[in-house]
Amino acid sequence: MPPNPDSTAVMATYARFPLSFERGRGVWLQDSAGRWYLDCVAGIATCSLGHSNRRLGKALARQLGRLQHVSNLYRIPEQEELALWLTEHSCTDKVFFCNSGAEANEAAIKLARKYGHSRRQVERPVVLSARASFHGRTLAAVTATGQDKYHCGFEPLPEGFDYFTYNDIDSFNSTLASHGDRVVAVLIEPLQGEGGVVPGNPEFFRQLRQICDQRQILLILDEVQVGMGRSGSLWGYEQLGIEPDAITVAKGLGGGIPIGALAVKAKADVFEAGDHASTFGGNPFSCRAALTVAAELERRQLLRKVGERGEQLRAGLARRVAQHPELLAGVRGWGLIQGLLLRDGAATAGDVVKAAMAEGLLLVPAGPQVVRFVPPLVISQRELRQVFKRLDKALARLG
Ligand SMILES: *Cc1c(COP(=O)(O)O)cnc(C)c1O
Repeated sequence: MPPNPDSTAVMATYARFPLSFERGRGVWLQDSAGRWYLDCVAGIATCSLGHSNRRLGKALARQLGRLQHVSNLYRIPEQEELALWLTEHSCTDKVFFCNSGAEANEAAIKLARKYGHSRRQVERPVVLSARASFHGRTLAAVTATGQDKYHCGFEPLPEGFDYFTYNDIDSFNSTLASHGDRVVAVLIEPLQGEGGVVPGNPEFFRQLRQICDQRQILLILDEVQVGMGRSGSLWGYEQLGIEPDAITVAKGLGGGIPIGALAVKAKADVFEAGDHASTFGGNPFSCRAALTVAAELERRQLLRKVGERGEQLRAGLARRVAQHPELLAGVRGWGLIQGLLLRDGAATAGDVVKAAMAEGLLLVPAGPQVVRFVPPLVISQRELRQVFKRLDKALARLG
């Protein structure tokens, strides 16, 4: 491996750590120097069954031996089976498959515009999203992302987007009013992940649901980070007590294999043949991965375990907040997505991530002042205790 990451032929779109991994097992990763790390990043909330999961590996090896890719020109049984599982386990009726979160949101935005044109005769539809949100990096998804830092340098952005403050119904109403009848959809995370691990407020979402119903606006929940069990329920919207008209799913869906999906209720099922497509979307291999993740969620009763381990994680982090009041400001999240808030000026999330890495613990920031804990959903009670041991050493380094 070249010593300097700048000297590789890979574009510098990521500020990478000078670290690479050779193998993984469960919640553990081994680097090229032979050192083991406890992984509370999990490919950014992606490797839900942990690394090198045996059942996933076997199912995928079998699939590779039989059929890897065909085309959506033909029926794909694995895709139909996965669509059925998703619709039977959510409030949705129909699914479109793609390969990533951004693509799922891109599909949702196109669907919202088509819905506006065909069902409401809106000529210039507008999609609203929240400030501090994250919806991906393709041009439409990044425009829906309500953060200037992701827009800067990529102007002109596509039109038909506007923003409101998350969990603030007055802000939503005034943004809505400024567009007359042009708003066709709201794209929103049930819990803002990249924006700082900010859970949605159930009362805000209840009011949002009501307004969307009154105005024939599609309520689309971006479940890319918290969907597929991370919150302790299968979907984040269950934590909020509402049903959306559509959800987008990706990160945890394939357990580390790339797959994304847009799932919609019948009333939002407006795509017709030729409207949208993806060469790789819903291929037998990635669908087999997602089917295996779904089967493991059920077989191992992972939702219940995420609830229990989530409590343990939250309680342990709250204890550290009490022990380090000068450094830590609080903890928030659902299930196995928890954010540890840092005091302004005391340390940055990057400082904590670096100190933890030196102690063999992998963490990831969610904005400048929040450290995110998103371990594999299979993490055990004992492994979480080791997370805290390493975290304590890391915090001592900073204190
Ligand atoms: C990661 C993420 C995305 C983007 O997913 P990609 O697979 O990186 O395109 C979109 N929305 C949310 C909420 C995310 O966390």
